[in-house]
Amino acid sequence: MNSERIYIFDTTLRDGEQSPGISLNSFEKLEIAEQLARLGVDVIEAGFPISSPGDFEGVEKIARSVSGVTVCALARAIEKDVTTAWDAIRHAERPRIHTFISTSDVHLEHQLRKSRDEVLEIARRMVALAASLCDDVEFSAMDATRSDPDFLASVLAAAVEEGARTINIPDTVGYAIPSEFGDFIRGQFQRVPGLRDVAVSVHCHNDLGLAVANSLAAVEAGATQIECAINGLGERAGNASLEEIVMILETRRAALDRMTGVKTTEISRTSRLVSQLTGYDVQPNKAIVGKNAFAHESGIHQDGVLKERTTYEIMNAASVGRGQSDIVLGKHSGRHALKSAMEELGFKLSDDELNQAFVHFKKIADRKKQVTAVDLEHLVSEDLRELSDIFELKAYHVTAAAGSMSESRVEIGKEGQRLSGESVTGGSMESIFKAIDNAVGTRGKLKDYQVRSVTEGKDSLGEVRVVVEVGGQAYAGTALSIDVVEASAKAYVRALNNAYRVGAVK
Ligand SMILES: [Zn+2]
Repeated sequence: MNSERIYIFDTTLRDGEQSPGISLNSFEKLEIAEQLARLGVDVIEAGFPISSPGDFEGVEKIARSVSGVTVCALARAIEKDVTTAWDAIRHAERPRIHTFISTSDVHLEHQLRKSRDEVLEIARRMVALAASLCDDVEFSAMDATRSDPDFLASVLAAAVEEGARTINIPDTVGYAIPSEFGDFIRGQFQRVPGLRDVAVSVHCHNDLGLAVANSLAAVEAGATQIECAINGLGERAGNASLEEIVMILETRRAALDRMTGVKTTEISRTSRLVSQLTGYDVQPNKAIVGKNAFAHESGIHQDGVLKERTTYEIMNAASVGRGQSDIVLGKHSGRHALKSAMEELGFKLSDDELNQAFVHFKKIADRKKQVTAVDLEHLVSEDLRELSDIFELKAYHVTAAAGSMSESRVEIGKEGQRLSGESVTGGSMESIFKAIDNAVGTRGKLKDYQVRSVTEGKDSLGEVRVVVEVGGQAYAGTALSIDVVEASAKAYVRALNNAYRVGAVK
């Protein structure tokens, strides 16, 4: 079956990263980008380089090391934005500059304070500039769905003339409804004949819960690229959810006659990684990646599924990479078994990295009967993150008892030195965090603290995520351990490492 190819443009690291409370460092961004490449998306929008030095660094790192995928950087239609975006991605195997300007009157009047003629002229000049730097240019007309269709068409036609290869028509404010949005896209194809020679893209927001439905309506109207994000992350109510888009096209391929290049069995793992690093939990009933998405509770359904799976299942859980944790290691598994399990998961580890992972693995396997694929994934991520840390939790001691103050002592390694700190205070978490502050010589304010278990069972690894405010800025840290106290202390130290990277902690 030769269905039309739909290109998946992932904006988890740009639009998704703009969600409140998400602060990924450049290593975490790289980790997500590598997983997105494994997932098989066509384009990774890695960030908005002009917005901050940290964003620039993250985009550049991804451009230099992630292969097999287009790496895209966002730029307003401003010369400095466009050249900065290019500087960040110029070393990518397949770089793309994505530049945008608003076309709706409400934005022109109140935000840009420019006339339609001026906007048309800027769009023309900035697309031309981007095309002079980079072969692959995408142009977006922000707030397209609330723009005058004729004016929008003139801007899109100009962008195509100046060399944009992808034209994105976003529903920036999430206002469209599917039938109307499909017609809107058809209307642009009619007004701008040049759109047939480029990729037409859509970027839908989920304010009314219609982002996926609108994207699908656009595909039926001829769009060939969909902008979306893992777990539907993004500004406000988020973007179209990548996993839903991909699984709709996959499950209903006979009806829609479209296909993507996504390796669906990597979906669950990508969702878990993004949730873990961003701290955004996935709602249990979320389609495709929610905990209950494939659970049958009703007796009638269970009975049916046991007799014949397809009675109540339209998708197989294994097709999105769930419930097929074939890899199970135990305390007798050796280095070789670990190495091949890691390779199966897609991690290529150097000898040093493998050694470190093995030490870590042994510690876990001593206390946990079965070490599963999910555990291993977390373990490697944890080790890779540690490699880039300057502060390291070397030792800790906490005492806690009902009715008495909690006492903590910690030792933190920093470039060969050992820093120690103590604290006596109300709760055990508070006391260990204060002891870490004292060792490092800072004052962090705990803004958020979450614990969850990675797998099932009492011996599951516990994962802790903290958000710590230092000098008015928030820094997140995630860590895992069999022991929740240890995971908490490590997560706190990791947050301080993130603060250190930008100079907020010395
Ligand atoms: Zn957006």
